[in-house]
Amino acid sequence: MLLKIVLGFLCGVTALASQNDTAQQGPLPLLLVSFDGFRADYLKRFPMPNLKLLHSQGVLVEQLTNVFITKTFPNHYSLVTGLYTESHGMLANNMYDPISHKHFHIGNNTDPMWWSEAQPLWVTALRYGYKTAAMMWPGSDVIIGNRTATHFFHYNPSVTFQQRVGNVTNWMLGNETEQGVKFAALYWEEPDRSGHMYGPDNATAMGKALKEVDDNIGLLMSELKRTGLWGRVNILVTSDHGMAQCSAERLIRLDDCLHPDNYTLVDLTPVAALIPLKDPEAVFALLKKCHPHMTAYLKRAIPDRLHYRNNERIQPIILIADEGWTIVRRGNKLPRLGDHGYDNALPSMHPFLAAVGPSFRRGYRISSLQSVDIYPLMCHLLSVPPQPNNGTLNHSRCLLAAETCWDVPLVIGLVVGVLLVLTTITVLFRFLSHRRHLSGPRPFQRLQIEDDDDDDPLLQ
Ligand code: AMP
Ligand code: ZN
Ligand code: ZN
Repeated sequence: MLLKIVLGFLCGVTALASQNDTAQQGPLPLLLVSFDGFRADYLKRFPMPNLKLLHSQGVLVEQLTNVFITKTFPNHYSLVTGLYTESHGMLANNMYDPISHKHFHIGNNTDPMWWSEAQPLWVTALRYGYKTAAMMWPGSDVIIGNRTATHFFHYNPSVTFQQRVGNVTNWMLGNETEQGVKFAALYWEEPDRSGHMYGPDNATAMGKALKEVDDNIGLLMSELKRTGLWGRVNILVTSDHGMAQCSAERLIRLDDCLHPDNYTLVDLTPVAALIPLKDPEAVFALLKKCHPHMTAYLKRAIPDRLHYRNNERIQPIILIADEGWTIVRRGNKLPRLGDHGYDNALPSMHPFLAAVGPSFRRGYRISSLQSVDIYPLMCHLLSVPPQPNNGTLNHSRCLLAAETCWDVPLVIGLVVGVLLVLTTITVLFRFLSHRRHLSGPRPFQRLQIEDDDDDDPLLQ
């Protein structure tokens, strides 16, 4: 009897402990990694064996339609908020706020004011009770909504990828005293730096830069395997934008069109932001006919599809250069051989997305997705209620193993195939019955004629 009671007690305790374990474990940890400036077609143009191995075990989205403007800070903030730039307020790498009269620059970016129109996922998940980490992700060392991620580093480009990964995996693992983080974001500067320096068309230089990026992906995978995290966490590997080839033959000089006294320049290329100092309509009229490869917009006329109008920090006039064109004030000096920031409809501006882990499908590939759709997917994976956002979970949920989704091209192919077969059968059936109809009465007619012939003498 006593034995029974002890056994029952032990069973009860074990059951309770395992229940608690499951409750404590909750959703699987999620790691979001960005390789800055990884243009989608690099994956086709360069070998990248580690990245290919990674996505072959999970999901590949060949092209991610990112947000305008296709710059680093705006797009990284969209990835972790699911918002277009006009809604999260991180509108460019250089900004001016007409209310506070403050200036933002990529090298001077830690004033919370610029980031506080939105809430990044590392803060939302933290508020929800999880520990989070953000390693050099734009905005991660800024106090947003009075919080930073549980773990973060101040931005320092000389911290190696290995050091970054080492810290992130330690944070994800946790220890006896501290729970592991549920959400971690990790940023790396390449291949953006090489893309600017050599241009994306320089196959030799980009081949070398992308070999290093791929080695880093290999390092990330082996570190996750070594620590036992591989297979126990969900991983998203992506980027903020692509890269276009620029050239000194494609320069647009503002001084050729109007005197610099007419405006204050807030941002320059490939999207220039101007505050007119004289009659705005007159300044606009000059800029409108300035160059065939540059489009000038008054703020109110910026196309809806760019989602780049409804924010105080968008200046009264913006100029958008065509792909590969560079706006300068004057002179013949090309600042960079590669650039981005252009229209987000351009394939050269698009990055990719690879996803691997227990929650993702294996060997699945789709051609495109909106980058704002990643945020609701991440919230879903973490079971965190999403903040208001511009993304749609229904667009990205097909990446998940638990979802049964129709492959749209396959379904269209099947429907067209079935329709073709049915049409062929119908046509064939009609043709045959028509032939039978034609060949049927003929012998009867001939018989009639023969009968007539026989009748002739009677008629006479
Ligand atoms: P861009 O290519 O102009 O959009 O900016 C990308 C560059 O911004 C990268 O090459 C980094 O060197 C730099 N960068 C990235 N994150 C930060 C940060 N948190 N603070 C300052 N600079 C950064
Ligand atoms: Zn970037
Ligand atoms: Zn860049």
